[in-house]
Amino acid sequence: MNNKTYMIHTLGCQMNIADSEHIAGLLEAQGYQKATDQQIHDKDVDLVVMNTCAVRQNATERMYGTLGQWHRYKLKNPQMQIAVGGCMAQKDKDLILKKAPWVDAIFGTHTIDQLPQLLNSARETHQSQTSIQEALSVFPSDLPIKRGQKASAWVSISMGCNNTCTFCIVPAVRGRERDRSEEDVLQEIRRVVQNGAKEVTLLGQNVNSYGYSTGNRHAFAHLLHECGTIDGLERVRFTSPHPAAFTDDVIETMAATPNIMHQLHMPLQSGSDRILRAMHRSYRTKRYMDILHKVREAMPDACITTDIIVGFPGETEEDFQDTLNIVQQARFTSAYIFEYSPRPGTVAATMEQVPSDILTDRFNRLLAVQEKITEEEMHRFLGKTVEVLVSAVGGRKDQETHRVTGRERGGLLVHITIPEGQTMPRVGQFVRCTITQSGSHYLISDPSQLESDNEHCVYQLSDTSWE
Ligand code: SF4
Repeated sequence: MNNKTYMIHTLGCQMNIADSEHIAGLLEAQGYQKATDQQIHDKDVDLVVMNTCAVRQNATERMYGTLGQWHRYKLKNPQMQIAVGGCMAQKDKDLILKKAPWVDAIFGTHTIDQLPQLLNSARETHQSQTSIQEALSVFPSDLPIKRGQKASAWVSISMGCNNTCTFCIVPAVRGRERDRSEEDVLQEIRRVVQNGAKEVTLLGQNVNSYGYSTGNRHAFAHLLHECGTIDGLERVRFTSPHPAAFTDDVIETMAATPNIMHQLHMPLQSGSDRILRAMHRSYRTKRYMDILHKVREAMPDACITTDIIVGFPGETEEDFQDTLNIVQQARFTSAYIFEYSPRPGTVAATMEQVPSDILTDRFNRLLAVQEKITEEEMHRFLGKTVEVLVSAVGGRKDQETHRVTGRERGGLLVHITIPEGQTMPRVGQFVRCTITQSGSHYLISDPSQLESDNEHCVYQLSDTSWE
């Protein structure tokens, strides 16, 4: 048993967050302990791990910036070990070793399980150790896990991607899609629910192409249906579905299964069919909008969000106008808008790039349109009663303001001010409350903001609360 401490720095998407939970589980199984805030503040940590992202340029820059900082800490404390994993490690191990030779261990997206061995070898040999494999041999879900939150859990149902989007490095670093068996997934969900989780988010690069490799186009809807039968599982979400793989039975199952949340984060990427073709996205805007209409017809309260890339190589003003039009029609609750940045190793990086001033101008114009829509969509919640699963209580600010934070059924963040005389709810409890204020990224429920004779203010611990 060692008494070493560790810290994990995670960049990128939910897949990386889920992988980091397995890295933590693996380290704790070896006797490592999570470093306290004070130890991190004092730079008194034995092992620092960075789980990297290769999707955007700024994540790469952040990675090298942080590694430089860690090098300075290591010079003061030579016993400290540094490990780098994730997509950048998978893609660029040699470059990392060249630019940051002080790194002790580099492990890829398919070799998380080998981290403890790499650290031991590096300690014995005083040399950097690497392990990168092209294909997955151990599904991360089979590794130990230390979950970041008790009430909500990520559950991976597949890894990798069979598509060839020309801007994306993911297929090169995560490999082809591999699906877990439905029974494996359901067993993990039952386990996390037994351990106190109320909410599960199913994860996959293309979560809804689950089962396609075996020719079963209805496997994802079936999995959702089965989630609906698990006692104690109050909420199920999933991310991200691919429009091309979206089947009507998923919409039917979402609408008919009470614990499947009416939330959809479905990447649009562009509103121009010409650009979608150049991106190798195998759907067109009509199909995308048809899905949206069907979802809203079946679930009028659905909270729909998206990802959009602005300034993909070859994008003209006309293409950009198409994106603006689709965004106006779609009325997303929110959208993650990205300026296109070339990723070495992708097809799009070799295409003629849009000048940066045009790119920034389009980004700002699209952002302004979406921000207005977001504001209007958030405003519609005023006076409505929502059910919130509490995820954070008792931060310094929370104590002062008597506030708790959580997400409502559509996935929107809600800050709740607990009325005088009421007990503060705990993480994992459900609260029904009336929305009194809306911001662009969150909603607020604060009874003091209501007229005193307002009868519609609701604040109660919900029936579904855990005790
Ligand atoms: S669907 Fe496209 S964007 Fe998504 S992971 Fe696969 S290649 Fe990348």
